[in-house]
Amino acid sequence: TIYNVGSINLDHLYQLDHFVRPGETMASDSYQCLLGGKGANQSVALAKAGAQVKHVGAIHHNDQAIIKQLESLGVDTGLIKQLDVPTGHAIIQLTKEAENSIILYQGANHALTEAQVDDVLSQAVAGDWVLLQNETNLIEYTMRKAQEHNVKVAFNPAPMDVDLTKQVLSLVDLLIVNEVEAMDLIGAADIDSAIEDFPKAYPDLAVLMTLGKAGVCYFDGSKSNADNKISVNAFSVDAVDTTAAGDTFIGFCLSSIMKGEDITKSIIRACAASAICVTRLGAASSIPTEQEVDEFLAK
Ligand code: ADP
Repeated sequence: TIYNVGSINLDHLYQLDHFVRPGETMASDSYQCLLGGKGANQSVALAKAGAQVKHVGAIHHNDQAIIKQLESLGVDTGLIKQLDVPTGHAIIQLTKEAENSIILYQGANHALTEAQVDDVLSQAVAGDWVLLQNETNLIEYTMRKAQEHNVKVAFNPAPMDVDLTKQVLSLVDLLIVNEVEAMDLIGAADIDSAIEDFPKAYPDLAVLMTLGKAGVCYFDGSKSNADNKISVNAFSVDAVDTTAAGDTFIGFCLSSIMKGEDITKSIIRACAASAICVTRLGAASSIPTEQEVDEFLAK
């Protein structure tokens, strides 16, 4: 089982001619409300990849549609607390030029309690994983509890908080970062120096670095043999929307690792899943199924 301790957001999307200006009231004739948040997206990707995923988080008790939607996609929602606190949400203005302007309200995503985390981890057994992003509270507490219970920790520090991330790295079994997060964390001016400096700065850490259309780089400092650095190319596709590419990658890669697949095969499979994702518009809805990934890889 993978316990994904993560955000659940409602994304309110409005299409507009231009961003609302100070003092202006503007009508929008295009509105969509979509399930989002890196946490929820990664749970959906894990479930679609065939992993047993229990989402750990919190929403407002009136938002039952979220529970129904996650369940219908294969995510176990039994550990989502239903509170009298607003569900995390984003108000997104989208212009025709595809620019966006976003208000984010973290709401219930920051209302996790130590008792909830304790309860979750008391159910975990050896071989289970905990996955965290950086959109919920109690990150360090959850990692410490996971370590006490011999549960492995995967961390995707997005959005990046350099101080928090450095503080918890010793508790992390697998770090997953994109280019920008890697450069921020290491303080590198470009991605090539980040790739070079990372294993030197963190010699004991296993790191998956996703590099957009350049693919993926993996280091495992805990292994002293020669195969501790792996590079995998991305698949060449016509990208239309890269939203949720990283979330798809993480879900498929972790699912594959948990099934006992070796790291190179897991990365290739996750690259295929995220390549399909970028050819489709949308976030959670653009994440492919296992079968679609199998068909893509068979081509
Ligand atoms: P994030 O969405 O977190 O910024 P990336 O942009 O690194 O993450 O994308 C994650 C993975 O998605 C990449 O490692 C790659 O395999 C795949 N991917 C992203 N963009 C493309 C693209 N244009 N073409 C093919 N694959 C892509």
